[in-house]
Amino acid sequence: MPRRILSKLLLLTAVCAASLAPRPAAAQSCDVQGYLPQVLEEKYRLIDLCFTGREPKDWGESLPGVYTHFAPSADGRVRVALTLDACGGGAGNAVDMNTLHLLIELNIPATLFLNARWINANPDVAAALAVTPLFELEDHGLAHKPLSINGREIYGLKGTASAGAAAREVEGGALRLKELTGKRPRFFRAGTAYYDDAALEIVASLGLKAVGFSVIGDAGGTLPAAKVASILRDVRDGDIVILHFNRPKSGTYEGLRRVLPELLSRGVIFVRLSEVQLETAPVRGHVPHQNFPGHNASPPLPQP
Ligand SMILES: [Zn+2]
Repeated sequence: MPRRILSKLLLLTAVCAASLAPRPAAAQSCDVQGYLPQVLEEKYRLIDLCFTGREPKDWGESLPGVYTHFAPSADGRVRVALTLDACGGGAGNAVDMNTLHLLIELNIPATLFLNARWINANPDVAAALAVTPLFELEDHGLAHKPLSINGREIYGLKGTASAGAAAREVEGGALRLKELTGKRPRFFRAGTAYYDDAALEIVASLGLKAVGFSVIGDAGGTLPAAKVASILRDVRDGDIVILHFNRPKSGTYEGLRRVLPELLSRGVIFVRLSEVQLETAPVRGHVPHQNFPGHNASPPLPQP
């Protein structure tokens, strides 16, 4: 048997045998990290094989395995992580420069989740963000899809249709980020921030942490300024706030302009996700502030 075919069969056998092992081991078997882009498609097919017959059990924004908050500080001071998404695609490709300038002016660090489509639509802004030390840039996917292995839908957006497609969504975004920043991202947030449990295993196998939120700051960039400000006014130690900087006509900038100086004067410390010890859902003793959907590329959203 030719050596190449033999090695491929051995790999396939190993991958599928490992898929019968407990979940953490199965996730490891599907690792496509580090492969050259030209052979990735083959790896995605292997991942499809790996998850053949698997039915997801859970679907949501805060499943176990989604990092929704971080460990409380030891000194009693309030630390908060602002995360701002740029979702891309059509109207989603806009840039809220006011919000970016505000963060820089106030010297507030933040974690920005960039979708590959947004980067491609705004290469100059993306390049400038990549060399701004205040910000860390992370993976918001290739096509901004909810992450599922069976095409499950949320807010009218169809999720990735297979395990391989989920891997492509995550890894494709990661590769685009690496192209932009020179380093592999550490965190991933799916379009809509929805995941199924199998897709979360795929995120982990790619060496990334799936990030959710504990505070919905602007509901996909749809809330008025007063609401954004009032939500942010209630942040607590360990909160991850989800906001957007791709909707310049929203109330996000004005709300942040009103509330951020106030939070600074109260002694709130803003951190990037890489600086803190992230904790995964379920959130113990930490009830999310709002119950309305936090992340949606296709308004209108249900009202809070
Ligand atoms: Zn998004």
